Amino acid sequence: MQKGHLYIVSAPSGAGKSSLISALLQQLPPGKARVSVSHTTRQPRPGEQHGTHYYFSGVDEFENLIAQGLFLEYANVFGNYYGTSIPMIEQNLAQGIDVFLDIDWQGAQQVRSKMPDCKSIFILPPSLQELERRLVGRGQDSAAVIAERMAKAISEMEHYHEYDYLIINDNFEDSVEEIKAILLAEKVSLKAQQQNHQLLIQQLLAKS
Ligand code: GDP
Ligand code: ADP
Ligand code: 5GP
Repeated sequence: MQKGHLYIVSAPSGAGKSSLISALLQQLPPGKARVSVSHTTRQPRPGEQHGTHYYFSGVDEFENLIAQGLFLEYANVFGNYYGTSIPMIEQNLAQGIDVFLDIDWQGAQQVRSKMPDCKSIFILPPSLQELERRLVGRGQDSAAVIAERMAKAISEMEHYHEYDYLIINDNFEDSVEEIKAILLAEKVSLKAQQQNHQLLIQQLLAKS
């Protein structure tokens, strides 16, 4: 069975990564790709559901999960723990399902070193003014939280060059198309094609 591909998507908060991933998943064939559900100690936002958006937990519970070795990566972002569990990733990839990780740059560094075949995408907003407008427009964070996220945006964006692909999320639909093009390029990459068409390649190159 063909293994799924692992994609990391990072961006400063409000740049649009959650909306882009969710639009992308709706446009791909059903069951082909999933977004990994992270564990976090942050408080749920209005409408966020346990098990759908995040697995919400207390700090003690999260630290127990760290001690048990559950996480492929975890990081402290804006004063809260966030982490990606190993079983969730492995089960999906083994079933041929592509997995998207919506994680910060610290987590991205950890995943790259453990899973070198993954590909990473960084998303930039078209301007700082627009980033702030989107954070305010989302209407889910307090003014203090938005100010903190804006203050951290530049230090997050400084890591853009560690990624394989860079998307400027100005026009939303264009950005979705660009991410689809990345998936297609990965699908036809030499490494993926060699794995998936081993037999055909052997037959074509066999000397009679
Ligand atoms: P958003 O930035 O508005 O999507 O806000 P979130 O609260 O959903 O995410 C906060 C930060 O934590 C972002 O930088 C995410 O990329 C990061 N994050 C979310 N899940 C994970 C995770 O499992 N691991 C790591 N390392 N970072 C995560
Ligand atoms: P993130 O997950 O990176 O924090 P979101 O996906 O929650 O960001 O997007 C933040 C806000 O910006 C949301 O209200 C979303 O609808 C909006 N948004 C995302 N991309 C665009 C875009 N290209 N143009 C205008 N608004 C956008
Ligand atoms: P939010 O609190 O707005 O949902 O997320 C804030 C940031 O945390 C985002 O930049 C998001 O990418 C990051 N984040 C969410 N889940 C994880 C995770 O599991 N690991 C890491 N490293 N970062 C995460």
